[in-house]
Amino acid sequence: MKAGKDKVIALHYTLTVDGEKVESSHDREQQLWVLLGHGQLIPGLENALEGHEAGDTLEVNVAAADGYGARQEDQIQRMSKKYFPQANRLKPGMVTILQLKEGGQRAVTVHKVGMSTIDVDLNHPMAGKDLHFDVSVTDVRDATEEELQHGHAHAPDAAAH
Ligand code: ZN
Repeated sequence: MKAGKDKVIALHYTLTVDGEKVESSHDREQQLWVLLGHGQLIPGLENALEGHEAGDTLEVNVAAADGYGARQEDQIQRMSKKYFPQANRLKPGMVTILQLKEGGQRAVTVHKVGMSTIDVDLNHPMAGKDLHFDVSVTDVRDATEEELQHGHAHAPDAAAH
């Protein structure tokens, strides 16, 4: 079966940026399950997977525009240290997770550490970067009705929700 819209694909991947490994599904010992055609993946990666089958391996280069977008320069924001559980350990360049008032969380990059405030860069840490993925496809199947309704894939051993 070939990957495409409304198919569920299972894959292992390693993401490399500027020659450095950023993350890998192998580190989590769990492959990634994705429902294609529903915005679960960045467009450049999703397009490259189209037509692939279980057993395929591929290298995908994704330009920033098809990945996390361009960096925006006016995204530096000054925030009180109280919003950072590990404020005293943060240094410029580190990525940390902010809990948002409206719920959810967001990865930000520390720009500058002051006495009582921290300036963070709200750009996605991968914004403006060209991404390199090594991908191995392990499974492709039709999505279930439930997955199509939810807009995401259900891994075989995931808890019901
Ligand atoms: Zn679901």
